[in-house]
Amino acid sequence: MIKFDKVVKRFGDLTVLNKLDFEVQRGEKVSIIGPSGSGKSTVLRILMTLEGIDGGVVTVDGEPLWHEKAPDGTLKPASETHLRKMRTQLGMVFQQFNLFPHMTVLRNITEAPVKVLGLSKKEARQRAEELLELVGLADQAQKYPGQLSGGQKQRVGIARALAMRPNILLFDEPTSALDPELVGEVLNVIRKLADEHDLTMLLVTHEMRFAKEISDRVCFFDRGRIREEGTPEELFTDPNEDRTREFLAAVL
Ligand code: ATP
Ligand code: MG
Repeated sequence: MIKFDKVVKRFGDLTVLNKLDFEVQRGEKVSIIGPSGSGKSTVLRILMTLEGIDGGVVTVDGEPLWHEKAPDGTLKPASETHLRKMRTQLGMVFQQFNLFPHMTVLRNITEAPVKVLGLSKKEARQRAEELLELVGLADQAQKYPGQLSGGQKQRVGIARALAMRPNILLFDEPTSALDPELVGEVLNVIRKLADEHDLTMLLVTHEMRFAKEISDRVCFFDRGRIREEGTPEELFTDPNEDRTREFLAAVL
């Protein structure tokens, strides 16, 4: 479903992704771990089309993300229309929540479904209310983000991403901006989503215990490539690479 094929990403002289090969199957829950600066967020940002690439191909369901297939099979740069279409398949939950501060919780969730998917306000509100129920915030719809705790804000962030009915949900360290006592309520919501077999999940996290619990597969990123990957059991209990072992020793 998601495929990175020898993807290169540079920022000036810095090569952040160095011919990255990476695949995620439909319905798979994959965690990405690795040191700061290893390119984890960049992978998610490329999928959200917030960043372009400098080489290789990224496909989602066989469709090139940053390119379009010309009638002769060659690749040309993606048009705005193509990018817009691809974007609706993916939702992202950010470390810093990225909620609109001047909009109510309800409006934060209904805005994109109305503007981008063309849902009626009524349909969008109905969907938002169901999602607020799911994340345990049914009674907070009329509040503003500034009136919520970090854990509540992040649960709104998750509801907002789900409102677009994405096939793929991306999480970039969804709990690292939270006070420790608020981490659990957010992980509980993510755990609930992980039980949905159809949803493909890609989670960048420092919560190793949680990654172990919910992932089908864990990828250890190091300097813009996957240094090692495997089931949580393989990777956390018996890694092959010294580099993985060093990293785990430092964070566990
Ligand atoms: P962390 O664990 O700290 O979040 P990460 O693995 O998510 O790290 P990325 O955010 O993907 O790392 O960044 C990889 C490298 O690319 C870093 O060295 C970062 O400074 C650099 N980088 C990221 N975005 C930009 C940008 N817009 N301009 C210049 N350099 C950038
Ligand atoms: Mg990051």
